[in-house]
Amino acid sequence: MIVVTSANGIVGIREAIEILRGGGSALDAVEAATRLVEANPDDHTVGYGGYPNVMGEVELDASIMDGRTLRAGAVGALKNYKHPISVARKVMEELPHVMLVGEGASRFAAEMGFQAENLLTEEAAEVYRQGISGALPEDKRDWLTGGIENNLARLAKITADPERAAGTVNFIAQDNQGNIACAVSTSGWAWKYPGRLGDSPIIGAGNYADNRHGACGCTGWGEIAIRCSTARSVVLYQRLGFGLEQACRQAMLDLAHATDDPASAIMSLVAINRDGRPIGMTTIPGRTYVWMTPEMAEPVEEPRIVVDLTEAR
Ligand code: ASP
Repeated sequence: MIVVTSANGIVGIREAIEILRGGGSALDAVEAATRLVEANPDDHTVGYGGYPNVMGEVELDASIMDGRTLRAGAVGALKNYKHPISVARKVMEELPHVMLVGEGASRFAAEMGFQAENLLTEEAAEVYRQGISGALPEDKRDWLTGGIENNLARLAKITADPERAAGTVNFIAQDNQGNIACAVSTSGWAWKYPGRLGDSPIIGAGNYADNRHGACGCTGWGEIAIRCSTARSVVLYQRLGFGLEQACRQAMLDLAHATDDPASAIMSLVAINRDGRPIGMTTIPGRTYVWMTPEMAEPVEEPRIVVDLTEAR
């Protein structure tokens, strides 16, 4: 049994371990732990307090996958619901679908009894205002007063995401039955175009779990993880006989071909193999990940292995 998470999952990992200690499922463990990160207003990359899109609206993405059956549920661009991971789980369990987005996702959340609430904190709103106006050149400041809606595409291109490299929470758990589950939740790329989905809600891109081979969750530049199916690649490379570290490294190196500038590609992942061995990998020196087993009194935070994507050229 084990729980592995990105560094910001430290607020939820003990809860996940308690569930596993009590004989609970990997799915219950990853959902409960993710909810604690989603509720944390100090985390500006996930759930409540997350940074908004270019119009100042918080839009959340999440997915959950059951490695026992390969069932999965996801929501994208969900507004006004604090726990997209639980809505994603309901999609998996209550619908014949895998993913709902936007209005349909909100409609479904309401139908399932989730309470709508405002997710934009004062702090996030202030960072948004400063971020947008600070990123605009002098001669474009009137976009803010003269109908931001007419310039969204240009605005989303110019404005900077203060935490583009640091967002998203990943949780992977393996329970006492050997079942593996993976949960991923994010507010996505700050100041993104409305409706933009990253890798987090895309099964195979930011999330994949298969009891037979392992699991992987990603954080970082979602667009390239989508184009390379990164999470599924980690699992598939293991299926093809690669060891855990080699599988992760190869999936990371694949990303180099999805950008003209591999040195600037930002990606991090956490993964386990089918024996529950954990690993964290990143393109950014200094990044950590966290893991814990039920036998341990405290989680351990370890450096991730750094991969240089320019090696792939
Ligand atoms: N992967 C997330 C996304 O692209 C953001 C992040 O992890 O920084 O939405």
